[in-house]
Amino acid sequence: MDPTWHADECLSCTLQGFRERAEAQGTPAPAATAIWRGFMVEGAHPSVKPDERRCTEIVGDQDTRKFALRHEDGAETESVLLPGVGKTGRRRTTLCVSSQVGCAMGCTFCATATMGRNRNLQTAEILAQWHCATHELGASIDNIVFMGMGEPMDNFDNILQAIKVLTDGAGPAIGARHIGVSTVGHVEGIERLTQAMAAGGLRSLRLAVSINSPDDERRSELMPITRRWGLDEVADALRKWIAAGGRPLLLEWVLIPGVTDNPQYARALADRFGDIPCRVNVIPYNPIEGRDWIAPDQPTIDTFMQAVADTGMRVHRRATLGRKAGGACGQLITASIRRRTPAR
Ligand code: SAH
Repeated sequence: MDPTWHADECLSCTLQGFRERAEAQGTPAPAATAIWRGFMVEGAHPSVKPDERRCTEIVGDQDTRKFALRHEDGAETESVLLPGVGKTGRRRTTLCVSSQVGCAMGCTFCATATMGRNRNLQTAEILAQWHCATHELGASIDNIVFMGMGEPMDNFDNILQAIKVLTDGAGPAIGARHIGVSTVGHVEGIERLTQAMAAGGLRSLRLAVSINSPDDERRSELMPITRRWGLDEVADALRKWIAAGGRPLLLEWVLIPGVTDNPQYARALADRFGDIPCRVNVIPYNPIEGRDWIAPDQPTIDTFMQAVADTGMRVHRRATLGRKAGGACGQLITASIRRRTPAR
C-alpha cells in the first residue's frame, strides 16, 4: 500500500489533532494513533511518506553538533544540539530550534539578523528539527529552547502549536518545564504566551527575554525593537507573566566588551527588574563576521557577574558552547547565505 500521509501532517499535529484529521478522511482512531505514534515515536511508519528534508550539514566539535535542514522550498535553517548536566548530575541534551528563516529584528550583534527575515517556519518545520535530531542523529532530547534563528514571537501561532505537539505525552512528551522560549522583548508575544501558559497545560513553560542594555537609548542602538516596546513595557509584561502564575524568568545579557560590560549597568538592571522573580543569564558575546567586537575575557565576565550579584539578583553564566562549529548563540546563519557574505 502506498503511503497516504505526508510527514508534515504528523509533525504539525498533536495525537488528538491527527486523529480528528484522519477520522475526517475515514481512518479510525486506533489506526490513526498507530500511524502518528509510529512516525513520531519510532521515527517511521509505512503509511507516512518519509520526511524529505535532509540534514544538509552536520558540524560538530567536542561539545555541540549543529545541523542544517533544507526545507521543501530550499530554505535552510540551523539547529544545535547542546550537551549539559541536569540538577541530579544526569547528562541532558538540549535542542536549540529555529523558528524562522532569518530574522527581522535587526539586532546588531547577531549573525542571523544579517539574513533579514525570509519567512516563518511552519509548525511541521519546527517539529522536523526535533524529528531529525531524534530519529536521524539519534539524540535523546531532554530540553528544547526556541533560541535558534528567528524571533519566536514573530511567528507566534506556529511556535505555540509546536509547543503543544512537543509536550504531547503520546509523542515527543517533552514537559513544558523543559521548553524555553526566548524573545527579543516582543511585548505582544509575551502577552499572548502568558495567556496560553495560564490557560492550562503549559504552566511550567520557561520564558527568557534578551535585555542586553540598561536603558532604552543604548538598547535601541543594539536592538531596534526597543523603539516599538521600551524596557518599561517589557518589565510590565513580565510582571503580568508572574502574576498569571508563570515561572521565574530568565533575563539574558549578552556581554560585549566596551558595549554592555559596564558594571554600573547591573544597578540599572536591578532597578528596573529587581522586583520580578528572575535570574540573569550572562552570555559572553560570540564574535560574528563583520563586527570588530571581541569576546569578553574571564576577568570581564567575573567583574560583571559580581556586579549583578552585588545587587541581590541571581546570576548565571551561560556556558560558551559551539563557537568553533559556528553554532553558539547569535552565530546561526545558513551556509548558503554565509558563502554570499563577503569577508569584511
Ligand atoms: N530572537 C530571540 C531568540 C534568538 S537569540 C531572542 O532575541 O531572544 C538567543 C540569544 O542569543 C539571545 O539572548 C540573544 O541576545 C543572544 N545572542 C545573539 N547574538 C549573540 C552573539 N553574537 N553572542 C552571544 N549571544 C548572542
